[in-house]
Amino acid sequence: MHSMEDVIRQQAHLLRDEMTVQLQRMIRVATVNPPGEHYEDFVALFDTWLRELGYETRIVTVPEALLPVLAPHAEGRPRPSVVGRIDGPAGPGLRLHLNGHYDVVPAGDDWTCDPFAGEIREGRMYGRGAADQKSGLVMQVLAVEALRRAGVRWRGTITQSAVPDEETVGNRNAGMGYLVEQGIISRNNTDAVIITEPFGVDGIGVGHKGAIWGRLTVYGRQAHGSSPQLGINAVELLVEAIHRLHSELSPQLAVRLSPVDVTPTESSASTLSFDTIHGGVATNVIPARAQATFNRRLVPGETVKAARRELTTVLEKLAQDNPQFRYEYEEFYTVEPTLVSTNEPLAHIMADILRRQGMTPRFLISAGSDDQRFVVHGARITNAIIYGPGQTRLAHQSDEYIDLGDLLKGIEMLALALYHLLR
Ligand SMILES: [Zn+2]
Repeated sequence: MHSMEDVIRQQAHLLRDEMTVQLQRMIRVATVNPPGEHYEDFVALFDTWLRELGYETRIVTVPEALLPVLAPHAEGRPRPSVVGRIDGPAGPGLRLHLNGHYDVVPAGDDWTCDPFAGEIREGRMYGRGAADQKSGLVMQVLAVEALRRAGVRWRGTITQSAVPDEETVGNRNAGMGYLVEQGIISRNNTDAVIITEPFGVDGIGVGHKGAIWGRLTVYGRQAHGSSPQLGINAVELLVEAIHRLHSELSPQLAVRLSPVDVTPTESSASTLSFDTIHGGVATNVIPARAQATFNRRLVPGETVKAARRELTTVLEKLAQDNPQFRYEYEEFYTVEPTLVSTNEPLAHIMADILRRQGMTPRFLISAGSDDQRFVVHGARITNAIIYGPGQTRLAHQSDEYIDLGDLLKGIEMLALALYHLLR
């Protein structure tokens, strides 16, 4: 005797060939972002696949006039998303949205294979986007297929979306951000959201750290390099500012820990780092201007506002102590930390499924930010998790791969979760 769960798992396993073919096809469309290449090719591929499977689809395109705002790095290239909807055979019920991003970061160097071929070696498929996160897109579609092919009479509505521009952040963006701004995903039409970023088959993402990306510019006064005392050295003042910020803030940040495990685990505390620095024009000129960009990462419990105040307080104090210190503080990207409760229905059901399949679920937040920010802060939907089969540590690496066994397992787990969610 077979339970429905057994039938669903069997059907998931029968999808292995289709899974491999579809993933390979997706990896072969090099959707490199920035600047966003071959987006229309990918969208055509995904749209066709959904329509073949019986979805009603639409392609949502950002109007050209909005591109400079939503995708400043796009150089005018189009920013399409695919949204496909399918209704359950048993009538209305939960309105579930499954989402993944189809853009990938540039391949970079040191690959031992073609990053856009989808080569298979020892049960792994290699390629840019194999883990982050074209395998997630394959999983979100095939999990629904496993249900259908098992003959489950599920109730509710499933919306699938594939969006661009997750990798290039931005306070607003042309992918998930745009879908939320347009109300295509809102509290009125969506009860639950699963984003298929790679947190591992046993990982359940319940949020991500926040961030302030900013720029600190220090102004001095130019003078001949032979007479530094006649000028004000902006490079040296900037160095002093960086030192002061680190010595006053970093010890406090190091002990501010995320209440939930972070992936990767080394990133569980708040941090501040300075990542670029520019200043001066020549070795015999005292520099009048120096600039550094910084990256402040926030754990849940912190706010952008409080983190900003900490930074500017140190700078203000420095300006009081040293009247020559003149500076400008700017921010170009901010995101609040995101954390949803592990008691939200999706998180709870997913954990339960993983446990019953012999796994130990890991609730995690991501060290980076991801599109969950738009869902939780923009659409205010908190019944939202990340679940995807790839390994976080392989994202953005050379020789990125997905273990095809893990992908199949992900399809199976998500299918079982859908079965329980959509009864
Ligand atoms: Zn991703």
